[in-house]
Formats: sequence, structure tokens, C-alpha cells
Amino acid sequence: SPAPYDAIILGAGAAGLMCAAVAGQRGRRVLLVDHADEPGRKIVISGGGRCNFTNIHTAPDRYLSANPHFAKSALGRYTAADFIALVERHGIAWHEKTLGQLFCDGSARQIVAMLRGECEIGRVELALSSPVGEIGHDGGAYTVALPRRTVTAPRLVIATGGPSIPKLGATGFAYDLARRFGLKVVEPRPALVPLTLGGDEALFRTLSGVAAEVVAKAGKAHFREAALFTHRGLSGPAILQVSSYWRAREPIGIDFIPDAAPGWLIEAKRHHPRTTLRRTLAGTLPDRLAEALAERLALTGELANTPDRRLDDAARQLSAWRFTPNGSEGFAKAEVTAGGISTADLSSQTLEARRVPGLHAIGEAVDVTGWLGGYNFQWAWASGWAAAQAL
Ligand code: FAD
Repeated sequence: SPAPYDAIILGAGAAGLMCAAVAGQRGRRVLLVDHADEPGRKIVISGGGRCNFTNIHTAPDRYLSANPHFAKSALGRYTAADFIALVERHGIAWHEKTLGQLFCDGSARQIVAMLRGECEIGRVELALSSPVGEIGHDGGAYTVALPRRTVTAPRLVIATGGPSIPKLGATGFAYDLARRFGLKVVEPRPALVPLTLGGDEALFRTLSGVAAEVVAKAGKAHFREAALFTHRGLSGPAILQVSSYWRAREPIGIDFIPDAAPGWLIEAKRHHPRTTLRRTLAGTLPDRLAEALAERLALTGELANTPDRRLDDAARQLSAWRFTPNGSEGFAKAEVTAGGISTADLSSQTLEARRVPGLHAIGEAVDVTGWLGGYNFQWAWASGWAAAQAL
């Protein structure tokens, strides 16, 4: 006979583990299912193995969604401070790296162990190595076919994440399931992903390995962080951040001298007439980059021999360099997926589908995508927690 579960959660990643633990501790009988043989694989590899588990500057405006208000409710009710308190209860040492990003001192595995421990307290049943078969919905109950049994519950939670990094077991399963229940899906696209350069701009790939602190811009978004040239194009935190806002065929802007005062290049000419643009730039940028930029601007001679007007032009271009990426490195390299199950079809309080009672969707599967820096885990924790209040 079917086991008497109150809720079946599909996906034992960040959101599913949190949701299961909290619902279990609220007395719900929870089955947490994953096709992988261990839970939380993305947590384990996250943050270079140290898991950037939250960001103390978490705020709704640091998330992309068709409805920018949607994330407010969950993020407001389960905050970074709540997660930090949990981490501290488990005696996990952590530190702030930069820009409010919190990492484990030790290993990301501590976060997985913590969540597993919380699931145990909630008597969550964990079904690993369990690919999900047919799913039915009949008479107020959901039926899920697992390899050796069929389980039922009045509530079903989609927590299978997005398709980024398929070699970690990531799939578009959440979208297929959501569509089957009539929910809309906002076109998924790779986000927090390196961008590729081709054509004329492919020349910059010879700078592979060179990094500089820049301000990168796409649309209205701008980020001051490191940009890195790669053998395929552009990466580094500044580029990953703008990639989430970037749309195909649009340019991105790079300010290579974010601290420059107006007229800085003409000033440089006054003070050091015999110097070159390359040498001036090399004061703040890596030499190979300084050389490439000076060459692209065709300004290789002494500043003294260059008219002020041309120097002004060059300064303007250096502050608003335009790259037009010919693509991104795709889902294979994307840290997250933007888009996903439409927030228009979900309650922001309970993450329950408005027209499909008992069906919830949480975490990355939903059309809510955070900036780089711990924001995506915070959304997974918060949305998992919020849904758990309603299970
Ligand atoms: P996931 O954690 O991806 O969990 C989904 C689960 O569903 C997985 O266990 C998967 O096996 C399972 N699943 C998928 N399909 C099926 C199926 N068909 N049947 C059964 N089970 C299925 N975010 C941060 O905030 N900080 C970081 O430091 C950070 N580092 C990252 C590093 C890398 C390399 C990557 C790829 C991502 C990183 N992220 C980081 C993003 C973060 O990992 C995700 O946003 C977060 O894991 C999403 O949580 P989730 O529970 O929604 O999905």
C-alpha cells in the first residue's frame, strides 16, 4: 500500500533539502527524492568547494525575474541572518570574503551534512538513486512512480533546479513537469556564464589569463569587479554578473579605468609628454592589456605628438569599451539558469501553483535568478523554507 506521505519533494538540492527539513520538523511526513546517489551535489562543488552559502546584502533588487517583486515575500521571511544562525548552531566556521559573500572556512560538505542532519531531525525519508517515472494527479493526490514503488501525497514540490551543468545531473525536468500541469515557463537561458568573442574581437583571446578590475555594463546593470580574458572570450565575476542581463547580439560595456578623473589622459600628456598611452595605462592595467588597448586605439606614439582631441576620444573609448559577444559558453558552463517556471502562476507566499492545488515549485526551477555571490543559495533556502510553511 502507498506510504502515507504528506509531501513528496522532487530534487534533493539546496532548495529541496531545506524545504524537506523544515516541513519535517513541522511534523509533516516528507519523502525527498533525487536521481543522484548523493544529495546537494551543486552545494559540494559550489564556491570552489567552500560554498558561498549566502550574502549579507541580500535584497530583492539583486534578483532577475519577470516579476521583480515576487522574491520579496520569501526573502523577507527567511533571511541571510536566519541561515547564518543555522550554520552557527551547527558549529560551522565561516568568513566574509568580499562584497558580503559568506563562505565556509572548511568545506561545502559541511553545509550538506548540516542539511542532512536537519532532515534527520525532521524524520525526512530520503530516496536517492531514484529516477522519477510517471507522475499522476488524481482526486487531490499526486502519484509518483519510483524505481521499486509508487508513492502518493497530497502535495508535490518541484525542486529539481535548472539545466545548468548537465554533467552534474542537472536537467530541464522541472520545466517539463510544470508545463504538464499547465504552468508557463519563461524561456530558460544560461546566466552567470562566460561570454565568447569572435570576428574582429577574437584578437582579445590572445590576452587569455589577463585580468583587470573594471566596471562591466549590460543594459541598466553595472558591476565593478574583476574581468578576465579567456581563450574563448571574457569571464571573471564582472562578466558573469553582466551575462545574466546580456541578450544575444547586444554589446556589453567595459570601463577599463573606473577611477579616472575627467581629462586624465591630457593631464598625463602634460606631466609626462614623452610617455606613451601603453605606459600610462600600464600604471593601472596589466601590461599586455595596456598594449592591446593602445594598439586597438592606434595610439602607439608619444603622448606629446598626439592631439588632445584624440586623447579625449581614446579616454572616452577606454571608459566605454564595447564588446559584442557572439555567444556564451552555454548551459555547460553556466552557474545558474535564468528564466524558469513563471512566477505569474505561483503564490509568492507559498510557492504553490495558483491553479494547481498542492503543487509547489522552489529554488532555481522558478524564474528568480540571483547575482553571483551567494544570492542563489539564499533564494533556494528562502523559497524552500516558505513552501515548507504551507506543506
Ligand atoms: P539544485 O541544487 O541544482 O538541486 C536540484 C536537485 O534535483 C539535484 O540534486 C538534482 O540531482 C535533482 N534532479 C534534477 N533533475 C532530476 C530528475 N529528473 N529527477 C530527480 N532528481 C533530479 N550559488 C550560490 O549562491 N553560491 C555559490 O557559491 C554557488 N556556486 C556554484 C558553483 C557552481 C559550479 C554551480 C553550477 C552553481 C553554483 N551556485 C552557487 C548556484 C547554486 O548551486 C544553485 O542556484 C542552487 O543549487 C539551486 O538550488 P536548487 O535546489 O534549486 O537546485
